[in-house]
Amino acid sequence: MTATHVVINPATAAPVVELPLASLADADAAIEAAHAAFPAWRAMPPGERAALLRRFAAVVDAHLDELAELEVRNAGHTWGNARWEAGNVRDCLNYYAGAPERLFGRQIPVPGGVDVTFHEPLGVVGVIVPWNFPMPIAGWGFAPALAAGNTVVLKPAELTPLTAIRLGELALEAGLPEHVLTIVAGKGSVVGERFVTHPLVQKVCFTGSTEVGKRIMAGCAEQVKKVTLELGGKSSNIVFADADIDAAAASAPYAVFDNAGQDCCARSRILVERSAYDEFLSKLQPAVEGLRVLDPSDESSEMGPLISAGQKASVSEYLDEVDVAFAGSAPGGPGFWLPPSVVTVDDPATRIWREEVFGPVVAVMPFDDEADAVAKANDTEYGLSGSIFTTDLGRGLRVARAVEAGNLSVNSHSSVRYWTPFGGYKQSGLGRELGPDAPMAFTEEKNVFIAH
Ligand code: NAP
Ligand code: MG
Repeated sequence: MTATHVVINPATAAPVVELPLASLADADAAIEAAHAAFPAWRAMPPGERAALLRRFAAVVDAHLDELAELEVRNAGHTWGNARWEAGNVRDCLNYYAGAPERLFGRQIPVPGGVDVTFHEPLGVVGVIVPWNFPMPIAGWGFAPALAAGNTVVLKPAELTPLTAIRLGELALEAGLPEHVLTIVAGKGSVVGERFVTHPLVQKVCFTGSTEVGKRIMAGCAEQVKKVTLELGGKSSNIVFADADIDAAAASAPYAVFDNAGQDCCARSRILVERSAYDEFLSKLQPAVEGLRVLDPSDESSEMGPLISAGQKASVSEYLDEVDVAFAGSAPGGPGFWLPPSVVTVDDPATRIWREEVFGPVVAVMPFDDEADAVAKANDTEYGLSGSIFTTDLGRGLRVARAVEAGNLSVNSHSSVRYWTPFGGYKQSGLGRELGPDAPMAFTEEKNVFIAH
């Protein structure tokens, strides 16, 4: 009998659909078919590959609302987020459609001949996606990988497979050849593991928890398989007393409670210069209490539910250990709801200060000066993102350079733009995604010397 999984709407806890789960044999068949599709895909003239990716982007664009609606229902994302996420897949496809015709090598001066380099595609790339941003994270993997001439097998998270499955159908509708992009919806322990162990998969592109990421890296070591890891975070929002405190307080909730805090870039620590600490908290409170936490089927919702009962239980455990300073609202009834919550912390050993909660919880702590702010921000195993609020440009740059994280923003909370590289320091990851160089990460650089 085929194993199945019931997809749940996290806002209501109601079942959405029951889907078959791919078996080990299904994963093997998908990998082998992707391997068979690789020679023709890599040999396709670059302009034709580019045109197919642009057509894929256009088909995604034509189905934007349909994809967004699936994510509202399957992941509890707000409409605004879900439309942005589907649009981000389109944008990544269009951006990387520029790559096949620009996959330049170099000509390097050497004695006795001519030396040239080539960027050769790897073959089959396995992309493993978490449940928190199912569409963008899928696109950040498959768009540059396909552009560089690889074929892709992609495993969505068991909890959120619907948009990935639909994107796979849209790829075929756009005219991508069969088995160039294959969605294999199944368990991490079955399909995900198989991407790691199957010798025909040349690279694993993983986004998820640091715990599973370490396992994947160890597994890939067996075959010296290439791996990109985008893992957890515990990022700081550093607010200096010279900042526009109103703007900093008004924007801070969105920097952590977006997607109900289930965001690897969530600014789940707020560090506030002591002289502005009370003022900041007094302005943060109405901003948090005013957040519209509603069923995401309501267009005006700004924050939806957590993804699952398990995630809600895990976040609730952290909250049980501390006193909540103040919190916003959340709907009652079924569904996996928690209100956005603010805790103040003095002791940096507190679990809620150190661990990635991955829920709508933010911890606030005062700091004394610039050096103290940087030391406190860096006192973590993670290093994904962070924000700095100050009106002193020099300080903004100094602190951005000093914080050990891959993605910093000054007087804003942005982390992800498809034009710019994204990834983590320390245990937040390995390698970079997005930006102009992403296709290179899906190639081998080959050097050829031709004697005169
Ligand atoms: P997770 O448990 O690590 O799962 C991520 C993906 O890996 C899922 O598709 C999962 O499949 C699969 N997986 C699980 N065990 C596996 C194994 N042994 N071998 C291969 N694949 C396996 O993470 P999650 O709970 O879904 O997501 C939350 C975490 O992801 C957070 O820690 C967050 O910070 C991190 N995250 C990081 C980024 C980033 O860019 N840095 C972005 C988003 C999320 P199943 O779920 O189907 O079992
Ligand atoms: Mg998990």
